[in-house]
Amino acid sequence: MKNNRSITEPIRFVSTRGDAEPCSFSQAMKWGLAPDGGLYLPERYPLLPGGFWQGVEGFTLQEIAFRIAEPYFASASERKIIREVVDSAINFDAPLIHLEDNFYVLELFHGPTLAFKDFGARFMARAFASLDTGIDGDLTILVATSGDTGSAVAHGFHGVPGTNVCLLYPSGKVSPLQEQQMTTLGRNITALEVKGTFDDCQKLVKQAFSDSGLRSRLNLSSANSINIARLLPQSFYYVYALAQLRKQFDEHADPVFSVPSGNFGNLTAGLIAMKMGMPLSLFLAATNSNDIVPRFLKTGTFSPQPSVKTLSNAMDVGNPSNFERITTLFGGSLEQMRAHIRGASFNDAQTRRCIRDTFSRTGYVLDPHTAVGLLASINFKDEMASDAPVIILSTAHPAKFGSIVEKEIGRKIPLPDRLKSCLEQEKKSIKISGNYNDFREFLLKSQ
Ligand SMILES: *Cc1c(COP(=O)(O)O)cnc(C)c1O
Repeated sequence: MKNNRSITEPIRFVSTRGDAEPCSFSQAMKWGLAPDGGLYLPERYPLLPGGFWQGVEGFTLQEIAFRIAEPYFASASERKIIREVVDSAINFDAPLIHLEDNFYVLELFHGPTLAFKDFGARFMARAFASLDTGIDGDLTILVATSGDTGSAVAHGFHGVPGTNVCLLYPSGKVSPLQEQQMTTLGRNITALEVKGTFDDCQKLVKQAFSDSGLRSRLNLSSANSINIARLLPQSFYYVYALAQLRKQFDEHADPVFSVPSGNFGNLTAGLIAMKMGMPLSLFLAATNSNDIVPRFLKTGTFSPQPSVKTLSNAMDVGNPSNFERITTLFGGSLEQMRAHIRGASFNDAQTRRCIRDTFSRTGYVLDPHTAVGLLASINFKDEMASDAPVIILSTAHPAKFGSIVEKEIGRKIPLPDRLKSCLEQEKKSIKISGNYNDFREFLLKSQ
């Protein structure tokens, strides 16, 4: 039974910078950012057996989720917990819809906050509450958000015992709906309205994490897409998309995934699924005018820029944090990256036109982020003359961006009930400057 070794030997998590002690999933989740400033990744990727991939269409989303997550946990008791975490966190569907020709849309917005981030946030909140992290006392979760992360994390952790969530969002730079979703929950959720951009919010959080004096007094963790516990569950739905493609549409060719991207957590999760043996042909890294990664793929130079405001604001990221994971996954090889990822970026005018044209052509309503994903798919089809099936990850419900979308399609989008209720509640936020000392003081005072 020699082969059992690879199954029973626990997979540890290591930092992209290689200077942090390898640790378990729970510890990596607790740390968020690794102590050497890097991001955690599994030290190896367990290949799921060929039989799993051949019969994947027979599995439900929850079964797939468990099969993907399970090998990262060593003990039977942890695996039992993870099954419960999966079952309670992933309790909504991610249907694959046929759009036209061989374009498919994977709708990831059927969770409570109507965006794909519900997958990661709900999984992480429940994992924190159930796995043994060895933490004494309350945990303070810091989240910099450009909109959707904040609401997903806030909803995921709302009322979870032993946790306090502190959201930092750029004042005036998130949609009114996003703001309502973040600022109306109360209890263990605090919303800080920061004078500055999303990058400023992210900088404050990063500074807090590297502040050892602060960390000795607070149990800090992050729930940004840098946390491995947010990342791993995002690989589940890639595999579920493949299952549906085969089962519902009898399409057996390896798909292309078009991923509307900002911080590149979503795309990184797809790479993890690929490393675990998932058959696929390519990833499209679809961005708005914040095109750092597509430009890197073209030129080989990674040059972060201040973010610019666009219609797809959850992708307004000038220094994508998961880029570090992507380069690590490819062993730093630009050639390898180019073989698996094709970049493309689109501006707001193209995005608007895409929403309008798609609606009049097919009747399907896209949100601005998903529209960027469709634009990348069309561009890929046109330039590469490929007939591979393309799966566009639909990252948000169009009602979340109603004022933009309605203008293009010329009709009202009804608000789902779970969105309607938060609009009726009172906004509660605390305004702070972009100055680190103010933030630090706030954290220590709120202890
Ligand atoms: C967060 C978000 C994205 C970008 O995802 P990343 O993992 O940061 O690349 C895209 N669309 C929507 C709606 C989002 O909320």
